[in-house]
Amino acid sequence: MAYSETSSASIGSIPSSEGPPCHCSQRTVMTVSWTDENPGRRFYKCEEHGFFLWHDKEKSCPWQKKSLLEAREKILSQREEIKALSAALRQANGQITALEVSRSSGSINDTLKRIEDHVSAHINETQRMVRKVVVCSGGGLALAAALMVYYLKK
Ligand SMILES: [Zn+2]
Repeated sequence: MAYSETSSASIGSIPSSEGPPCHCSQRTVMTVSWTDENPGRRFYKCEEHGFFLWHDKEKSCPWQKKSLLEAREKILSQREEIKALSAALRQANGQITALEVSRSSGSINDTLKRIEDHVSAHINETQRMVRKVVVCSGGGLALAAALMVYYLKK
């Protein structure tokens, strides 16, 4: 019966507080029992042999036991909830990562390529237009020069 204190429903130990040495001469560690029989009752535990000695000599009284067992249930169910939530979070993160990978490979590069093509087509068109304007104004200048020459000769 004593050994079961460590095995079932242990919620946490208090590793800082060391107890008397076990018969194997290892230091024992103060631990809180969370069994149905001894909820919240502290005891010393050997890493090798488990239960060693009760720290709380008295068993908890019936109402303490009841409220401690309720608290234990609450903690355990919250722990399950946290486990489920973090599993859901991991899954969501995995989906986001997968989405980012699928976005970066292919489709976005295709879009960028299309934009690049579009822009370089525009640049070519603009260069043609600029050349045309230069040619036109060049022609205009030539005409103006010809007219000036004509009037000066007069
Ligand atoms: Zn021991």
